[in-house]
Amino acid sequence: MPHHTPLIATIVAALVVAFVMGALAHRLRVSPVAGYLFAGVIIGPFTPGFVADAELAIELAEIGVILLMFGVGLHFSLKDLLSVRRIAVPGALAQIAGATALGLGLALLLGWSVVAGLVFGLALSVASTVVLLRALQARDAVKTERGKIAVGWLIVEDLAMVLALVMLPVVADLVNGTVTDRGAVLCLLLVTIFKVAGFIALMLIVGKRVIPAGLHWVAHTGSRELFRLAVLSIALGVAFGAAALFDVSFALGAFFAGMILGESQLSRRAAEETLPLRDAFAVLFFVSVGMLFDPAVVVEQPWPLVATVAIIIFGKSLIAFLIVRAFGHPNETALTVSASLAQIGEFSFILAGLGTGLGILPPEARDLILAGAILSILANPFIFSLAVGRAPKRSAFPTSAPAAPSPTPSTPAEGHTILVGFGRVGRLVAAAHKGSDKLVVIEAQSGPTQRDGSGNLSFIEGNAADPAVLEQAEIGRASRLLLAIPGGFEAGAIAQSARALKPSIQIIARAHSDDDVAYLERVGADHVIMGEREIAARMVSLLKAP
Ligand code: AMP
Repeated sequence: MPHHTPLIATIVAALVVAFVMGALAHRLRVSPVAGYLFAGVIIGPFTPGFVADAELAIELAEIGVILLMFGVGLHFSLKDLLSVRRIAVPGALAQIAGATALGLGLALLLGWSVVAGLVFGLALSVASTVVLLRALQARDAVKTERGKIAVGWLIVEDLAMVLALVMLPVVADLVNGTVTDRGAVLCLLLVTIFKVAGFIALMLIVGKRVIPAGLHWVAHTGSRELFRLAVLSIALGVAFGAAALFDVSFALGAFFAGMILGESQLSRRAAEETLPLRDAFAVLFFVSVGMLFDPAVVVEQPWPLVATVAIIIFGKSLIAFLIVRAFGHPNETALTVSASLAQIGEFSFILAGLGTGLGILPPEARDLILAGAILSILANPFIFSLAVGRAPKRSAFPTSAPAAPSPTPSTPAEGHTILVGFGRVGRLVAAAHKGSDKLVVIEAQSGPTQRDGSGNLSFIEGNAADPAVLEQAEIGRASRLLLAIPGGFEAGAIAQSARALKPSIQIIARAHSDDDVAYLERVGADHVIMGEREIAARMVSLLKAP
């Protein structure tokens, strides 16, 4: 090794081990998140062998949080946020109070101080953004009423934690007797609220005009590279600026940047451009959590650990469930919201780290918080499945429909056609589809408008490369599959699984290069239509026309 490269070593080790463990998890049919966490334990300081740089890993994980929150913001309008405020604000506050009280109770039993108990309880009360979003995304539930309540709830929790993080050093000073002036505490609280409000106002008044306009300008340069850079600069720049100037969390800053862009026409492209980076960094987040875990805590403090996990998984969910039901929402909504919040994550680690650093939280409390986080994150997919059922993958159109029981999509008729992709090509095909047979459209992106599945058209939101989605489109009974997506490689994968599920299906695919045509034909497409050839043919025919 020519020189010391801790950053490269950390990224490479985290991604490679996460890949191996993720693949193993996939093979064993458990959530890949479990694999990523385990990868973190492997490269962490508490197991033998290579040890990655934990501080760098945490910092990298923050980028994952930023990109994820930016993505949520893109799909989340201010209207959505305000529409759930009536339940999200009191719900989150009551849940924080309840969980903090439970944590305080446990802390007192363990003989810690009241302040330590309060910090411990607060750390148990706030859920992880990444875990919540992954769970909702796996079920295409981010845009449903339940999803909006859960995300709104989380944002309120985030805001409360921003306040807590700022207040903690002052509280520590009070406890340690360094500061005795209670007026100073109140003053700091007001300053924090003022800063958060200032940031939000700046984003809504100035950012709302400047950011979309800038992005439109970049889009018109026609450079994809510049567009990608612009989107990343906005997400990371606003998040960082918000944290540096206004002491707002990265997550909150990124969320607002996304929300402001979400109103613009370009939001879908912006979301697509950040997707690959977002996934990679979300994995780094889980690995970095795994790295913090010291397995010894399980042996040394088994009962406090059981109590901590019980507070996170049962205490918090019960409170959330009761609140959502009290607001008159159906059982399904209450179960989704409480299952989403039955875990803890990044904010808890930050609080625990700060608390121990300031000397107001005993180190064993930090270990319990970390172990509780790992166990609750591991358990979350199972809890979700128990509470809400396996990922249904089906979503309602229009997506802003009020809380309704899962939509019952019309059953496709025998011999229906499946159309994958509802973009420039798919829309035209759907518009021209006048046959009596049914057309089932599979589209990966959730679109805000024009997808009223009227007549013989129905929609499924999901990635057709997932065989479960093809099965949902009842491929076994379909007679034709139209692959109207631009990516030849992905279309090939879909064609292969479609063939495996229904050998006799007729597959018509779209391509944009000779290589794609050859590949698609090789993997079983019956007809491949290459855009460029068709354009040329039409031009030639116009030339020949009199
Ligand atoms: P266009 O290039 O404008 O025709 O858009 C292609 C459309 O296909 C976009 O709306 C994508 O979201 C969608 N798409 C791409 N890949 C998939 C996939 N694997 N499953 C479902 N939809 C997809």
